[in-house]
Amino acid sequence: MSDCIFCKIAAGQIKSDLVYEDDTVVAFRDINPQAPVHVQVIPRRHIENAAALTDEHRDLIAHLILVAAQVARDEGVEEGGYRLVANVGPQGGQSVPHLHIHVLGGRAMAWPPG
Ligand code: AMP
Repeated sequence: MSDCIFCKIAAGQIKSDLVYEDDTVVAFRDINPQAPVHVQVIPRRHIENAAALTDEHRDLIAHLILVAAQVARDEGVEEGGYRLVANVGPQGGQSVPHLHIHVLGGRAMAWPPG
């Protein structure tokens, strides 16, 4: 999608602090981190959010979660634990309409989320 900031990051048109990339997935540090580790894991192809997923995305979403877990491992937060978040739509707190998994770690997380 031409005006999507995360599509531009995935295409290398906007600079980001990449921590992982492959043919289908990119992971980069959040520009406004909410925890010592805060990484976004996104598909390269534009998908608006989890509500837009269909059966055709089954392998992609599995890969996305596996990459998120690998990022957490690489960032050294696996042992202490971490949080994966996928905000969906306005009431879910989604501000960027391109599917992304937040990997948050390095501090204790509160529950319930705000
Ligand atoms: P959400 O509110 O769940 O849609 O999350 C969007 C996230 O993207 C927020 O945590 C933002 O800080 C982050 N973000 C927005 N623009 C950028 C950018 N250019 N580089 C890295 N992270 C970004």
